[in-house]
Amino acid sequence: MKGRFPTDKFQSIETPFYYYDTDLLRTTLRAILSESSKHEGYEVHYAIKANANPKVLNVIAQAGLGADCVSGGEIRAALGAGFPSRKMVYAGVGKADWEINLGLDKDIFCFNVESQAELEVLNDLAGQRGKKARVALRINPDVGAHTHSNITTGLAENKFGIAMGDMERVVDEVNSLPHVEFIGLHFHIGSQILNMGDFAALCNRINDLQKQLERHRVTVHHINVGGGLGIDYTHPNRVPIPDFKGYFDTYARLLHLRPGQKLHFELGRSVVAQCGTLVTRTLYVKQGTAKQFAIVDAGMTDLIRPALYQAYHKIENISSDGPVQTYDVVGPICESSDVFGKSVDLNETHRGDLIALRSAGAYGEIMASQYNCRKLPRGYITEEL
Ligand SMILES: *Cc1c(COP(=O)(O)O)cnc(C)c1O
Repeated sequence: MKGRFPTDKFQSIETPFYYYDTDLLRTTLRAILSESSKHEGYEVHYAIKANANPKVLNVIAQAGLGADCVSGGEIRAALGAGFPSRKMVYAGVGKADWEINLGLDKDIFCFNVESQAELEVLNDLAGQRGKKARVALRINPDVGAHTHSNITTGLAENKFGIAMGDMERVVDEVNSLPHVEFIGLHFHIGSQILNMGDFAALCNRINDLQKQLERHRVTVHHINVGGGLGIDYTHPNRVPIPDFKGYFDTYARLLHLRPGQKLHFELGRSVVAQCGTLVTRTLYVKQGTAKQFAIVDAGMTDLIRPALYQAYHKIENISSDGPVQTYDVVGPICESSDVFGKSVDLNETHRGDLIALRSAGAYGEIMASQYNCRKLPRGYITEEL
């Protein structure tokens, strides 16, 4: 055991693999539920796309969260893990007919509709089944988020949602179609947001839109503000649990809910990121001309965030107590971007040492690919070791 990891138990597992600390996951879930339940009408869903490992999903479903899905496959994964369909919402700009039909057949709580074209298809497919689908319109609030440009979603230039100027017209259309029912509004402005001012801007926007609809005599029963709360990638030990209190309190202070109105959240990263670690083995230490490389057996195929978003993950040698040296930690994939960290301070590293890439529970295992004909990494939870 070095630090917080059961390193002895890791020795017999084929690397690279993901390790999920379910004690931390459960503590995180308790923090979410205790902070959100302080406010009336708050309902939290877990965004399946952050991590759909069945064992992880099962822990989250047991805690009682709903599920936010962005594909038919995610609806299946959520059902398989025990999320009830009456707590399922389904968003996505490009829902295929079979995916809509699956949602209809399972009677999911709500379709978050992103265009008028989609609304018409949903109405037709629901009609064929003699059903009426509950619909929230995903509105693009044109609110920026101070995060990486690849993960902002709420700007007018992004592909997501219905433009604010079209909102009233599309609400009228929902009300004119027989097989869809307008129940509310949906938003999602981006991911890895740590500045509460971004959520505050969303609240102000929603207050305005809600007033606009009330003038138009439209009742909004449900408001869904999406997810996006960030985590501390630099200090996973010091800040293992995100600031859920600050997050929910921001909405409580600034978003003016009407009596009986429900406020839905779709948290992904903030639920699972800190409990996950990618564990990899050092293959070689190579002396370059100006630097030394620790070449590990995990690559961008196992964790693509550094290559895709220049994301930072804290890296630790969990096998060594030797004096600290500086390494570029790189994978074996034939791409120059297959680098986990440059000039990383690690305890003196040798072939065979286990290296931990921290805070990898969100958008890690689920984004793995088989590029270079590699195996997909497996994921283990604490109870399995
Ligand atoms: C990705 C996504 C989320 C979750 O985002 P996080 O940043 O992981 O919290 C929530 N809602 C929708 C619609 C999404 O696409």
